[in-house]
Amino acid sequence: MSDLSIQFSIRDKLTAIQSYVLKHGLVQAALFIAAWLIVFGSGALLDVVNYASLWFPAAGLTFAVLVVVGWRSILPLMFCAVVGTFWTDSIYGLNTPPDELFVTGILFGVGHIASYYIGARLLLYISDTSLQNLPRLATCFLILSAVCSFLATISVLTALVWSGAIDDGSHVDTWLPFWIGDLAGMAVTAPIFCFIIAKLYPHPKFWIGEHLNQKSTTSFTEFLYKCSLGLGLLLVVMLLASISEAPEAAYAAFFLILPQMWITYTETPLRTSLSLALLSLAIALLVTPFDVMQFALVYQFVICVVAATTLYGLAVPALIADNRALRGMVLKDSLTQTTSRNELINRVEKELKQAQRQKSELCLIVFDLDKFKHINDKFGHVAGDRALISAADCAKDCLRETDILGRFGGDEFVVVLPFTSADAAVLTAERIRLRLTQVTVDHGVTLSGSFGVSAVTGVDSFNRAFERADKALYRAKDLGRNQVCCM
Ligand code: GH3
Ligand code: MG
Repeated sequence: MSDLSIQFSIRDKLTAIQSYVLKHGLVQAALFIAAWLIVFGSGALLDVVNYASLWFPAAGLTFAVLVVVGWRSILPLMFCAVVGTFWTDSIYGLNTPPDELFVTGILFGVGHIASYYIGARLLLYISDTSLQNLPRLATCFLILSAVCSFLATISVLTALVWSGAIDDGSHVDTWLPFWIGDLAGMAVTAPIFCFIIAKLYPHPKFWIGEHLNQKSTTSFTEFLYKCSLGLGLLLVVMLLASISEAPEAAYAAFFLILPQMWITYTETPLRTSLSLALLSLAIALLVTPFDVMQFALVYQFVICVVAATTLYGLAVPALIADNRALRGMVLKDSLTQTTSRNELINRVEKELKQAQRQKSELCLIVFDLDKFKHINDKFGHVAGDRALISAADCAKDCLRETDILGRFGGDEFVVVLPFTSADAAVLTAERIRLRLTQVTVDHGVTLSGSFGVSAVTGVDSFNRAFERADKALYRAKDLGRNQVCCM
């Protein structure tokens, strides 16, 4: 079987599985529960103190599913909370009676789900007005992350104390790592989980695809190199903290912002979110083997600060791309792709100064299509637009690299010819005029134009040189059109 047909059969099978899953609500719920428990396990195994892990990505998954799927996800989440509670009990070997564990699980579920449900509803409300404004959305998301994770901390710890799962005094040591762990888990993983769930769920309430799913300009290998730079730096700072056992060495982990920001500014938002999740997971996983759990709070803050900086930074590549697009629109005429009027004037002023400095010759040609209104009136503006594009292309073909062709407005174009005498400029204008008459546009219409040429003298400004060429153009019109006049 060829590579292509293997690819197709795999893709067909994946599509078939996806449509089967989408059709069956119970299968969806079972898959989600399995995913939540895996994510829960990856956090719960990294405890700073009992019931508080270094980061808690399940908070991000809970928030994401509540935002994208809504209230329908509450029941599976509740099931997850109860199973997670039984699992935690077996991890700590507490042997709590099942009925007590069940109540604790329900209380944990209520506190956890209610806190993130409030945040999800607020984000949906805010996103109606802010989805197009990435910095504002990122700010709101970060504030919601802090508030929801704090609410979850207070409500879950109160429930655990009330149910007797933790004794009254120990929640004082637990609340800060619990909060920062939930905050880190939510800020790092919720965007990527939102993206994945919205891709899989048929009716997503929230879609950040247009922000995350941009086309990449760099190769995947390059992205992997950048990720490995961050991971390499992480290994170095962890080793340093492990050997020296000094808090100052642990603080060096804040330098991880640098490779992460390099990725943020140069890669797509989706890759940036992936690298953030990877880096945070690596921090959480390496704390135990490097024996630096005493600095757990520092690493929790590192994850939160890197996540917050990354989320703000996500707006920068979008701003750069917008800026590039705007610059293109300012410099070029959008219809004919010739130089825009403003840019034309700027460039003529520069060429004028250079010609005056070097005492070189410079000429302007101004030309206007003849009876152009007739094309618009008879065949419509779309045909008129196409005629303008053809006229511009035709003039471009007759010019040198160093000449500048701009659209001055309507059907009027300007050509700037540096290092050109008046005689040579007239010849160029004649060449364009002749070529125009050979062009046939929509409906078999032929074009023609009238041309004015002016040679620029030492003291001319653009306006004066342009006025002379324009006068010459009107003389050409008066003399019967389709000809070149010089002044
Ligand atoms: P003349 O020979 O005296 O130049 O006659 P004309 O019909 O060409 O008259 P004029 O140059 O004054 O008319 C220019 C017309 O170009 C008027 C306007 O409707 C049309 N026009 C201006 N901008 C555009 C454009 O972007 N697209 C199209 N299709 N038409 C445009
Ligand atoms: Mg005209």
